[in-house]
Amino acid sequence: MKNLSPIQPKLLSRINERLVMRMVRDRGPLTRAEMSKSIGITFPTVIKAVSSLLESKLLEEVEVSQSGPGRPAKRLRLASEDTQVVGVTLSDTECIVASAGLDGVIVAGNTKSFPTPANYDSLLAKITSLTKELMRRDDKTTLCLGVSIPGIVDYQEQRAVLSANLPIVNGKYIGRDLQAVLGVECLILRDAHAFSLSERLLHEKGETDSNVAMLDHSEGIGLGMMVNNQFLTGNKGFAGELGHIPIVSDGDVCNCGKKGCLETVASEWALEAKVSTALERPVKIDEILVLAKSGNEPVLREINQMCDYLALGVACVVNIFNPGTFYIYGQCFRELPHLLDLLVENTRQYALEPSFLACNFVHAQGGELDGTIASAINYLTDSLVPDLDDYLTIAKE
Ligand SMILES: [Zn+2]
Repeated sequence: MKNLSPIQPKLLSRINERLVMRMVRDRGPLTRAEMSKSIGITFPTVIKAVSSLLESKLLEEVEVSQSGPGRPAKRLRLASEDTQVVGVTLSDTECIVASAGLDGVIVAGNTKSFPTPANYDSLLAKITSLTKELMRRDDKTTLCLGVSIPGIVDYQEQRAVLSANLPIVNGKYIGRDLQAVLGVECLILRDAHAFSLSERLLHEKGETDSNVAMLDHSEGIGLGMMVNNQFLTGNKGFAGELGHIPIVSDGDVCNCGKKGCLETVASEWALEAKVSTALERPVKIDEILVLAKSGNEPVLREINQMCDYLALGVACVVNIFNPGTFYIYGQCFRELPHLLDLLVENTRQYALEPSFLACNFVHAQGGELDGTIASAINYLTDSLVPDLDDYLTIAKE
Protein backbone atom coordinates (compact mmCIF):
# COMPACT_ATOMS: atom_id res chain seq x y z
CA MET A 1 0.00 0.00 0.00
CA LYS A 2 1.27 3.42 -0.90
CA ASN A 3 1.61 5.94 1.84
CA LEU A 4 -0.11 8.90 0.25
CA SER A 5 0.01 12.33 1.77
CA PRO A 6 -1.91 13.82 3.54
CA ILE A 7 -3.13 10.54 5.06
CA GLN A 8 -0.89 9.67 7.99
CA PRO A 9 0.42 6.12 8.55
CA LYS A 10 -1.42 5.95 11.87
CA LEU A 11 -4.69 6.85 10.20
CA LEU A 12 -4.08 4.28 7.46
CA SER A 13 -3.61 1.63 10.14
CA ARG A 14 -6.88 2.59 11.75
CA ILE A 15 -8.69 2.49 8.42
CA ASN A 16 -7.39 -1.02 7.86
CA GLU A 17 -8.44 -2.03 11.38
CA ARG A 18 -11.89 -0.69 10.73
CA LEU A 19 -12.14 -2.57 7.44
CA VAL A 20 -11.18 -5.78 9.24
CA MET A 21 -13.67 -5.16 12.07
CA ARG A 22 -16.50 -4.45 9.65
CA MET A 23 -15.71 -7.50 7.57
CA VAL A 24 -15.75 -9.78 10.63
CA ARG A 25 -18.90 -8.11 11.97
CA ASP A 26 -20.74 -8.58 8.69
CA ARG A 27 -19.42 -11.99 7.62
CA GLY A 28 -18.56 -13.84 10.84
CA PRO A 29 -15.23 -15.55 11.72
CA LEU A 30 -12.57 -15.25 8.98
CA THR A 31 -8.96 -16.31 8.49
CA ARG A 32 -6.35 -13.66 7.81
CA ALA A 33 -6.04 -14.92 4.24
CA GLU A 34 -9.78 -14.61 3.68
CA MET A 35 -9.71 -11.08 5.03
CA SER A 36 -6.85 -10.12 2.74
CA LYS A 37 -8.71 -11.49 -0.28
CA SER A 38 -12.11 -10.00 0.63
CA ILE A 39 -10.92 -6.54 1.63
CA GLY A 40 -8.27 -6.29 -1.07
CA ILE A 41 -5.38 -5.32 1.22
CA THR A 42 -2.07 -7.17 1.47
CA PHE A 43 -1.56 -10.12 3.83
CA PRO A 44 1.10 -8.32 5.96
CA THR A 45 -1.29 -5.37 6.31
CA VAL A 46 -4.02 -7.70 7.55
CA ILE A 47 -1.60 -9.32 10.02
CA LYS A 48 -0.70 -5.90 11.40
CA ALA A 49 -4.33 -4.78 11.70
CA VAL A 50 -5.41 -8.06 13.32
CA SER A 51 -2.60 -8.01 15.85
CA SER A 52 -3.53 -4.48 16.90
CA LEU A 53 -7.21 -5.48 17.21
CA LEU A 54 -6.29 -8.57 19.25
CA GLU A 55 -4.30 -6.35 21.58
CA SER A 56 -7.25 -3.98 21.96
CA LYS A 57 -9.45 -7.01 22.77
CA LEU A 58 -11.80 -6.18 19.91
CA LEU A 59 -11.08 -9.48 18.11
CA GLU A 60 -10.29 -12.96 19.38
CA GLU A 61 -8.80 -15.99 17.70
CA VAL A 62 -10.66 -19.30 17.48
CA GLU A 63 -9.72 -22.63 15.96
CA VAL A 64 -12.34 -23.90 13.56
CA SER A 65 -12.08 -27.51 12.41
CA GLN A 66 -12.29 -27.91 8.66
CA SER A 67 -13.35 -30.84 6.52
CA GLY A 68 -10.19 -31.25 4.39
CA PRO A 69 -6.68 -32.33 5.51
CA GLY A 70 -4.36 -30.04 7.42
CA ARG A 71 -4.42 -28.18 10.67
CA PRO A 72 -7.60 -26.47 11.92
CA ALA A 73 -7.87 -22.95 10.51
CA LYS A 74 -7.41 -20.07 12.91
CA ARG A 75 -10.16 -17.57 12.45
CA LEU A 76 -10.76 -14.16 13.93
CA ARG A 77 -14.12 -13.20 15.36
CA LEU A 78 -15.48 -10.29 17.36
CA ALA A 79 -14.34 -10.79 20.94
CA SER A 80 -16.80 -12.33 23.37
CA GLU A 81 -14.78 -14.43 25.82
CA ASP A 82 -12.78 -11.67 27.48
CA THR A 83 -14.64 -8.61 26.24
CA GLN A 84 -18.15 -7.26 26.63
CA VAL A 85 -20.40 -4.29 26.03
CA VAL A 86 -23.30 -3.22 28.24
CA GLY A 87 -26.72 -2.19 26.96
CA VAL A 88 -29.24 -0.15 28.98
CA THR A 89 -32.85 0.51 27.99
CA LEU A 90 -34.88 3.18 29.75
CA SER A 91 -38.66 3.55 29.83
CA ASP A 92 -41.18 5.29 32.04
CA THR A 93 -41.84 2.12 34.04
CA GLU A 94 -38.83 -0.20 33.83
CA CYS A 95 -35.11 0.01 33.04
CA ILE A 96 -32.98 -2.93 31.91
CA VAL A 97 -29.20 -3.40 32.07
CA ALA A 98 -27.52 -6.33 30.27
CA SER A 99 -24.09 -7.36 29.03
CA ALA A 100 -23.09 -9.13 25.82
CA GLY A 101 -19.97 -10.13 23.92
CA LEU A 102 -19.13 -8.29 20.73
CA ASP A 103 -21.05 -11.06 18.95
CA GLY A 104 -24.16 -9.35 20.38
CA VAL A 105 -25.27 -12.42 22.32
CA ILE A 106 -26.56 -11.46 25.76
CA VAL A 107 -24.86 -13.60 28.41
CA ALA A 108 -27.30 -15.84 30.29
CA GLY A 109 -28.07 -14.43 33.74
CA ASN A 110 -26.54 -11.05 32.90
CA THR A 111 -29.81 -9.15 32.49
CA LYS A 112 -30.98 -6.96 35.38
CA SER A 113 -34.05 -4.76 35.60
CA PHE A 114 -35.41 -2.20 38.05
CA PRO A 115 -38.46 0.06 38.30
CA THR A 116 -37.73 3.50 36.86
CA PRO A 117 -36.77 5.84 39.73
CA ALA A 118 -38.50 9.19 40.26
CA ASN A 119 -35.43 11.38 39.66
CA TYR A 120 -32.33 11.56 37.50
CA ASP A 121 -29.74 11.10 40.27
CA SER A 122 -31.39 7.88 41.47
CA LEU A 123 -31.55 6.66 37.87
CA LEU A 124 -27.82 7.29 37.37
CA ALA A 125 -26.98 5.62 40.68
CA LYS A 126 -29.00 2.51 39.84
CA ILE A 127 -27.57 2.16 36.31
CA THR A 128 -24.07 2.68 37.72
CA SER A 129 -24.36 0.04 40.43
CA LEU A 130 -25.85 -2.61 38.12
CA THR A 131 -23.33 -1.87 35.37
CA LYS A 132 -20.45 -2.11 37.85
CA GLU A 133 -21.83 -5.47 38.96
CA LEU A 134 -21.82 -6.70 35.34
CA MET A 135 -18.34 -5.22 34.79
CA ARG A 136 -16.95 -7.11 37.78
CA ARG A 137 -18.62 -10.37 36.88
CA ASP A 138 -16.58 -12.86 34.79
CA ASP A 139 -13.60 -10.49 34.89
CA LYS A 140 -14.21 -9.22 31.35
CA THR A 141 -13.05 -5.97 29.82
CA THR A 142 -16.01 -3.67 29.22
CA LEU A 143 -15.46 -1.54 26.13
CA CYS A 144 -18.65 0.43 25.69
CA LEU A 145 -22.02 1.20 27.25
CA GLY A 146 -25.07 1.90 25.06
CA VAL A 147 -28.17 3.56 26.54
CA SER A 148 -31.46 3.83 24.66
CA ILE A 149 -33.82 6.62 25.60
CA PRO A 150 -37.54 7.03 24.84
CA GLY A 151 -37.21 10.51 23.42
CA ILE A 152 -35.24 12.90 21.24
CA VAL A 153 -31.47 12.52 21.48
CA ASP A 154 -28.87 14.99 20.27
CA TYR A 155 -26.31 12.61 18.80
CA GLN A 156 -23.65 15.27 18.37
CA GLU A 157 -23.81 16.40 21.98
CA GLN A 158 -24.88 12.99 23.35
CA ARG A 159 -27.66 14.70 25.27
CA ALA A 160 -31.24 13.60 25.97
CA VAL A 161 -33.12 16.58 24.57
CA LEU A 162 -36.79 15.83 25.13
CA SER A 163 -38.48 12.73 26.43
CA ALA A 164 -42.20 13.30 26.80
CA ASN A 165 -42.61 10.03 28.70
CA LEU A 166 -39.41 10.07 30.77
CA PRO A 167 -38.94 13.77 31.59
CA ILE A 168 -36.31 13.12 34.30
CA VAL A 169 -33.69 12.76 31.53
CA ASN A 170 -34.64 15.95 29.68
CA GLY A 171 -31.58 18.09 28.99
CA LYS A 172 -29.24 15.59 30.69
CA TYR A 173 -25.86 14.57 29.31
CA ILE A 174 -26.55 11.04 30.44
CA GLY A 175 -23.79 9.48 28.33
CA ARG A 176 -21.17 11.87 29.70
CA ASP A 177 -22.43 11.44 33.28
CA LEU A 178 -22.24 7.64 33.12
CA GLN A 179 -18.86 7.73 31.40
CA ALA A 180 -17.50 9.90 34.22
CA VAL A 181 -18.45 7.42 36.96
CA LEU A 182 -17.88 4.17 35.05
CA GLY A 183 -14.73 5.07 33.10
CA VAL A 184 -16.18 3.35 30.02
CA GLU A 185 -17.15 4.98 26.75
CA CYS A 186 -20.87 5.55 26.69
CA LEU A 187 -23.26 6.49 23.92
CA ILE A 188 -26.97 7.21 23.98
CA LEU A 189 -29.52 6.63 21.26
CA ARG A 190 -33.23 6.97 20.59
CA ASP A 191 -35.27 3.84 21.42
CA ALA A 192 -36.86 3.67 17.96
CA HIS A 193 -33.38 3.79 16.44
CA ALA A 194 -32.34 0.87 18.65
CA PHE A 195 -35.34 -1.11 17.41
CA SER A 196 -34.44 -0.41 13.78
CA LEU A 197 -30.88 -1.48 14.36
CA SER A 198 -31.92 -4.79 15.93
CA GLU A 199 -34.36 -5.45 13.09
CA ARG A 200 -31.71 -4.71 10.51
CA LEU A 201 -29.22 -7.04 12.19
CA LEU A 202 -31.80 -9.83 12.44
CA HIS A 203 -32.52 -9.67 8.75
CA GLU A 204 -29.04 -8.77 7.59
CA LYS A 205 -28.16 -12.28 6.52
CA GLY A 206 -31.29 -12.67 4.39
CA GLU A 207 -33.04 -10.53 1.84
CA THR A 208 -33.19 -6.98 3.04
CA ASP A 209 -34.58 -3.79 1.64
CA SER A 210 -32.33 -0.78 1.61
CA ASN A 211 -35.29 1.40 2.65
CA VAL A 212 -36.91 0.20 5.82
CA ALA A 213 -39.26 1.77 8.35
CA MET A 214 -39.81 0.64 11.91
CA LEU A 215 -42.83 1.74 13.94
CA ASP A 216 -42.29 1.61 17.70
CA HIS A 217 -45.75 1.65 19.23
CA SER A 218 -45.34 1.57 22.99
CA GLU A 219 -45.62 4.27 25.63
CA GLY A 220 -45.07 6.73 22.81
CA ILE A 221 -44.91 6.39 19.05
CA GLY A 222 -41.47 6.37 17.45
CA LEU A 223 -40.13 5.81 13.97
CA GLY A 224 -36.79 4.38 12.89
CA MET A 225 -35.81 4.75 9.23
CA MET A 226 -33.11 3.28 7.05
CA VAL A 227 -32.90 5.28 3.82
CA ASN A 228 -30.67 3.79 1.12
CA ASN A 229 -29.04 1.69 3.85
CA GLN A 230 -28.24 4.80 5.87
CA PHE A 231 -29.72 5.24 9.29
CA LEU A 232 -31.80 8.43 9.20
CA THR A 233 -31.01 10.61 12.20
CA GLY A 234 -31.62 14.09 10.78
CA ASN A 235 -29.23 16.98 11.26
CA LYS A 236 -28.90 16.66 15.04
CA GLY A 237 -30.50 13.25 15.59
CA PHE A 238 -34.10 14.41 16.04
CA ALA A 239 -35.58 12.57 13.03
CA GLY A 240 -38.38 10.04 13.49
CA GLU A 241 -40.72 11.87 15.86
CA LEU A 242 -43.79 10.36 14.27
CA GLY A 243 -45.69 10.48 17.54
CA HIS A 244 -45.63 14.26 17.53
CA ILE A 245 -46.87 15.01 14.04
CA PRO A 246 -50.01 17.16 14.37
CA ILE A 247 -53.08 15.06 13.56
CA VAL A 248 -56.04 16.64 15.38
CA SER A 249 -56.50 20.36 14.94
CA ASP A 250 -56.73 21.93 18.42
CA GLY A 251 -56.79 18.43 19.94
CA ASP A 252 -55.80 17.23 23.41
CA VAL A 253 -52.56 18.41 25.01
CA CYS A 254 -49.70 15.97 24.40
CA ASN A 255 -46.90 15.01 26.83
CA CYS A 256 -44.62 17.14 24.64
CA GLY A 257 -46.67 20.25 25.37
CA LYS A 258 -48.19 20.64 21.88
CA LYS A 259 -51.79 19.92 20.98
CA GLY A 260 -53.30 17.18 18.84
CA CYS A 261 -50.16 15.06 18.26
CA LEU A 262 -50.57 11.54 16.90
CA GLU A 263 -49.67 10.26 20.38
CA THR A 264 -52.75 11.94 21.88
CA VAL A 265 -54.99 9.63 19.83
CA ALA A 266 -52.92 6.59 18.84
CA SER A 267 -50.45 5.70 21.63
CA GLU A 268 -50.85 3.21 24.47
CA TRP A 269 -51.24 6.04 26.96
CA ALA A 270 -53.98 7.63 24.84
CA LEU A 271 -55.73 4.26 24.59
CA GLU A 272 -55.57 3.87 28.38
CA ALA A 273 -57.12 7.32 28.81
CA LYS A 274 -59.93 6.65 26.31
CA VAL A 275 -60.78 3.19 27.69
CA SER A 276 -60.67 4.54 31.27
CA THR A 277 -63.19 7.21 30.28
CA ALA A 278 -65.39 4.67 28.47
CA LEU A 279 -65.39 2.22 31.41
CA GLU A 280 -65.45 5.00 34.04
CA ARG A 281 -62.47 3.59 35.96
CA PRO A 282 -58.66 3.56 35.50
CA VAL A 283 -57.63 0.77 33.12
CA LYS A 284 -54.02 -0.03 32.18
CA ILE A 285 -52.79 -1.56 28.94
CA ASP A 286 -52.44 -5.16 30.22
CA GLU A 287 -56.10 -5.24 31.27
CA ILE A 288 -57.19 -3.52 28.05
CA LEU A 289 -55.61 -6.33 26.04
CA VAL A 290 -57.31 -8.98 28.21
CA LEU A 291 -60.66 -7.23 27.70
CA ALA A 292 -60.02 -6.97 23.96
CA LYS A 293 -59.29 -10.68 23.71
CA SER A 294 -62.56 -11.43 25.52
CA GLY A 295 -64.45 -9.35 22.93
CA ASN A 296 -65.33 -6.34 25.11
CA GLU A 297 -67.14 -4.02 22.69
CA PRO A 298 -66.22 -0.57 24.09
CA VAL A 299 -62.54 -1.62 24.33
CA LEU A 300 -62.48 -3.00 20.78
CA ARG A 301 -64.09 0.20 19.53
CA GLU A 302 -61.33 2.30 21.13
CA ILE A 303 -58.60 -0.01 19.77
CA ASN A 304 -60.08 0.24 16.26
CA GLN A 305 -60.17 4.02 16.57
CA MET A 306 -56.53 4.05 17.74
CA CYS A 307 -55.54 1.85 14.82
CA ASP A 308 -57.27 4.18 12.36
CA TYR A 309 -55.36 7.19 13.66
CA LEU A 310 -52.13 5.22 13.64
CA ALA A 311 -52.72 4.43 9.97
CA LEU A 312 -52.69 8.17 9.22
CA GLY A 313 -49.14 8.36 10.55
CA VAL A 314 -48.07 5.15 8.82
CA ALA A 315 -49.51 6.40 5.51
CA CYS A 316 -47.45 9.62 5.84
CA VAL A 317 -44.29 7.56 6.23
CA VAL A 318 -45.23 5.32 3.27
CA ASN A 319 -45.87 8.35 1.05
CA ILE A 320 -42.80 10.33 2.10
CA PHE A 321 -40.16 7.60 2.35
CA ASN A 322 -41.45 4.73 0.17
CA PRO A 323 -40.09 1.96 2.46
CA GLY A 324 -39.90 -1.59 1.10
CA THR A 325 -40.53 -3.10 4.53
CA PHE A 326 -42.42 -1.59 7.44
CA TYR A 327 -41.73 -3.34 10.75
CA ILE A 328 -44.41 -2.88 13.39
CA TYR A 329 -43.43 -3.25 17.02
CA GLY A 330 -45.62 -3.01 20.13
CA GLN A 331 -47.43 -4.95 22.83
CA CYS A 332 -50.86 -4.32 21.23
CA PHE A 333 -49.67 -5.73 17.90
CA ARG A 334 -47.92 -8.65 19.57
CA GLU A 335 -50.93 -9.71 21.63
CA LEU A 336 -53.67 -8.91 19.11
CA PRO A 337 -52.39 -10.43 15.86
CA HIS A 338 -55.40 -9.20 13.82
CA LEU A 339 -54.40 -5.60 14.61
CA LEU A 340 -51.63 -5.58 12.01
CA ASP A 341 -54.11 -6.58 9.27
CA LEU A 342 -56.41 -3.80 10.42
CA LEU A 343 -53.56 -1.27 10.39
CA VAL A 344 -52.60 -2.34 6.87
CA GLU A 345 -56.19 -2.07 5.64
CA ASN A 346 -56.57 1.37 7.19
CA THR A 347 -53.24 2.49 5.73
CA ARG A 348 -54.42 1.38 2.30
CA GLN A 349 -57.24 3.94 2.59
CA TYR A 350 -54.85 6.83 3.20
CA ALA A 351 -51.59 6.06 1.36
CA LEU A 352 -50.85 6.52 -2.33
CA GLU A 353 -51.56 3.22 -4.01
CA PRO A 354 -48.17 2.62 -5.71
CA SER A 355 -46.30 3.40 -2.48
CA PHE A 356 -48.67 1.23 -0.44
CA LEU A 357 -48.37 -1.70 -2.85
CA ALA A 358 -44.56 -1.45 -2.77
CA CYS A 359 -44.48 -1.83 1.01
CA ASN A 360 -44.51 -5.06 2.99
CA PHE A 361 -45.88 -4.76 6.55
CA VAL A 362 -44.57 -7.28 9.07
CA HIS A 363 -44.38 -7.85 12.80
CA ALA A 364 -41.01 -6.81 14.25
CA GLN A 365 -38.91 -9.64 15.67
CA GLY A 366 -36.09 -7.79 17.39
CA GLY A 367 -35.97 -5.90 20.65
CA GLU A 368 -34.77 -2.61 22.03
CA LEU A 369 -32.12 -4.23 24.23
CA ASP A 370 -30.60 -6.16 21.29
CA GLY A 371 -30.54 -2.92 19.29
CA THR A 372 -28.92 -0.97 22.12
CA ILE A 373 -26.18 -3.58 22.43
CA ALA A 374 -25.78 -3.61 18.65
CA SER A 375 -25.34 0.16 18.70
CA ALA A 376 -22.49 -0.14 21.21
CA ILE A 377 -20.84 -2.81 19.05
CA ASN A 378 -21.31 -0.74 15.88
CA TYR A 379 -19.81 2.21 17.69
CA LEU A 380 -16.68 0.19 18.47
CA THR A 381 -16.53 -1.12 14.92
CA ASP A 382 -17.08 2.21 13.26
CA SER A 383 -15.39 4.70 15.55
CA LEU A 384 -11.85 3.68 14.66
CA VAL A 385 -11.80 6.45 12.08
CA PRO A 386 -14.19 9.38 11.84
CA ASP A 387 -15.38 8.95 8.29
CA LEU A 388 -14.42 5.91 6.35
CA ASP A 389 -15.76 6.79 2.93
CA ASP A 390 -13.35 9.68 2.33
CA TYR A 391 -10.39 7.40 2.83
CA LEU A 392 -11.61 4.12 1.37
CA THR A 393 -10.29 4.67 -2.14
CA ILE A 394 -6.87 5.79 -0.95
CA ALA A 395 -6.63 2.96 1.58
CA LYS A 396 -7.13 0.36 -1.11
CA GLU A 397 -4.46 1.75 -3.43
ZN1 LIG B 1 -46.59 15.61 21.15
